[in-house]
Amino acid sequence: MCKNTNFRFQIAGYNIVVGKVFNRNFAAWPCEAQSATGLSAAIQPDSHRAWDFRYYPWPMPALRSLGTLKPTARNLSLRPMKTLISLLIRFVPRKYLQLFSGLGLKALGIFYMGNKVECPICKNHYRQFLPYGRINPRPNALCPGCLSLERHRLIWLYLQQKTNFFQQKLKVLHIAPEHCFMKPFEAQHGEGYITADIESPLAKVKMDIHEIPFGENHFDVVLCNHVLEHVKDDIKAMREIRRVLKPGGWAILQVPFFSPVPDVTFEDNSITDPREREKIFGQDDHVRMFGKDYSKRIASAGLQTDANTFASDFTVEKTTYFGIESKEVLYVGRKDQ
Ligand SMILES: [Zn+2]
Repeated sequence: MCKNTNFRFQIAGYNIVVGKVFNRNFAAWPCEAQSATGLSAAIQPDSHRAWDFRYYPWPMPALRSLGTLKPTARNLSLRPMKTLISLLIRFVPRKYLQLFSGLGLKALGIFYMGNKVECPICKNHYRQFLPYGRINPRPNALCPGCLSLERHRLIWLYLQQKTNFFQQKLKVLHIAPEHCFMKPFEAQHGEGYITADIESPLAKVKMDIHEIPFGENHFDVVLCNHVLEHVKDDIKAMREIRRVLKPGGWAILQVPFFSPVPDVTFEDNSITDPREREKIFGQDDHVRMFGKDYSKRIASAGLQTDANTFASDFTVEKTTYFGIESKEVLYVGRKDQ
């Protein structure tokens, strides 16, 4: 649906991928209308289409909010910043946000310099992480250095402390790759590290998770975070993950949960209106809301489920220091030996 004529270049070590993400008739395709918002369109160099605020009204309140700011460290953490971040997150898909906002957030990090929190991924220290969230931004969430969120830092700590991930070269399939992980994972695993996605410009391999284009018993590890709420058939996707895992291999399978968490996962592919989806599933591109039966769904795909509470091992001080959620459960699916 979305036109993507990408090209790549580097600024200050950042891989920038620029694509034509919108089309003259984008109003007919909500996906393109959303993809076309904000920073991505603003730096689109080969577009002959003029920037038109009639279609992109969201920056105006955000820019007005910024206009009221005096550029002091204190002011930058106040409400206008939360509003701006909230608007960016709400209207710019995270995969594009990751591509285009890195430099801006890195600059913002100057105002957050300090020693009260540490990102275990990029090793930077700040007085706090940035707020992040679509409607009510969570405090102490987004790392300005690498754009990691609470869940990424938790996964990193888990990989580091509870697995062999950083001890040896492994074959790793990273589905819908998160920008903050890509460089360090590639440095660790070299060519064994494969990124894949159906549309993300960050990924090396274009693939449909329902038909993973690799043979069976191929990967030691599969990382598949916040993907299964988007796909048509999550059980089929997890069966595919099981198929490509080596015996004894494992997958991290994080999904979002929205309060109140239902007892049984609710899904309905016939709901396609973005507003309806946001109301029912929590986000306009979700097709199911996972319930307390998620472990059983993993098991029904043939994987042993480990719903582990590693996050609760950390003290309150360490939880704040690393900016993680102590109640977050890590879902790991293992293939039998
Ligand atoms: Zn970081």
